Amino acid sequence: MALVVQKFGGTSVGDADRIRAVADHIARTRRHGDQVVVVVSAMGKTTDELLRLADDVSAVQPPRELDMLLTSGERVSMALMCMALADQQVDAVSFTGSQAGIITDTAHTRAKIQEVRGDRLRQALADGRVPVVAGFQGVSTERDVTTLGRGGSDTTAVALAAALGADACEIYTDVTGVFSADPRVVPQARRLSRLSFEEMLDIAASGGRVLALRSVEFARNHHVPLHVRSSFTWEPGTWVVEEEPTMENAVVTAVTHDTSEAKITVTGVPDRPGLAARLFRALAERSVNVDMIVQNVSQHGTTDISFTVPKVDVASSVEVARNLAAEIGAGEVVADTEVAKVSLVGAGMRSHPGVSATMFQTLADEGINIDMISTSTIRVTCVVRADAVERAVQALHRAFELDTF
Ligand code: ASP
Ligand code: MG
Repeated sequence: MALVVQKFGGTSVGDADRIRAVADHIARTRRHGDQVVVVVSAMGKTTDELLRLADDVSAVQPPRELDMLLTSGERVSMALMCMALADQQVDAVSFTGSQAGIITDTAHTRAKIQEVRGDRLRQALADGRVPVVAGFQGVSTERDVTTLGRGGSDTTAVALAAALGADACEIYTDVTGVFSADPRVVPQARRLSRLSFEEMLDIAASGGRVLALRSVEFARNHHVPLHVRSSFTWEPGTWVVEEEPTMENAVVTAVTHDTSEAKITVTGVPDRPGLAARLFRALAERSVNVDMIVQNVSQHGTTDISFTVPKVDVASSVEVARNLAAEIGAGEVVADTEVAKVSLVGAGMRSHPGVSATMFQTLADEGINIDMISTSTIRVTCVVRADAVERAVQALHRAFELDTF
């Protein structure tokens, strides 16, 4: 008898029919003899609608009240799911994040899980019941309701799987798994049957939208095998697991792209120790997540620094950079929002030289100019013009023969 955590995203529980279909699947898993802990997201676009409602009501949204509002979406799902399960003669019981013992820090709207108590879930399982937990939420050390950031239900599921020692955490969604590229851009993209945590982390961080990055980090740190699969077809999807030493790794596993970032350049920065530190410290203090950074060779005592930030943070980042530029006697600050990132990810890159060279050549053959480059041991990323990124993804998918297997 296995213990599985099954997490259902917003589209999986989007309406009454979907909730009944999911309840049917949970009932089948139980009949198969496995124990199940269910985690649900808010129905469909509920969270977006609640955010819009808050905007309509007030420009001032105390984070504590925003969290109180947003957590209501997942409560609706969990109660309806238990009713649908009752209809299937499955004895289920719902728990809010707080009732499930998910203890977080006090950072409203982006809280981090500190501890999972889970006593009531263990008791429910021991009583032969199916616990249904509201995703995306917890209770802070100050006893206030918190949320874990957008897409946080994945993290709830992985955290519960780790705390309860589950055999697997199944993430049900509206796609059949993780693909070698976004199938909307590359129709021949293949579903990947098995990935390492490292590859999944780089895929999630570079634009693959299937899993929230934090949930993958959590799964890797706590050794929780993940299975990403569809709640529409129920077919086996993509397993994300620990890399085995014997695994013969593909050189390139996936091509990802991301159009959510912008590039900012500070020109004429005096070439003195400590200035980069001040710039990026100031950005960090505004909670701006800087991704790529490039500093050019210094000429005549000054240098240019370019970096990418989420488009939503462009205005505040430019302000921070302009203030600093004025203080230290640097030149202009320019923002460019018409950029996109394209990345190659693959664990086999560690032992295969030449991947970057082939990538740059492929882009050159397409007449696509590269703005910035960054690499890690298993990833190469280029910043290109936004209007060329789909062509870049298609060409790279072909060049690395990702559609032939
Ligand atoms: N409902 C939340 C959101 O839309 C959490 C989640 O779906 O994982 O971000
Ligand atoms: Mg969601």
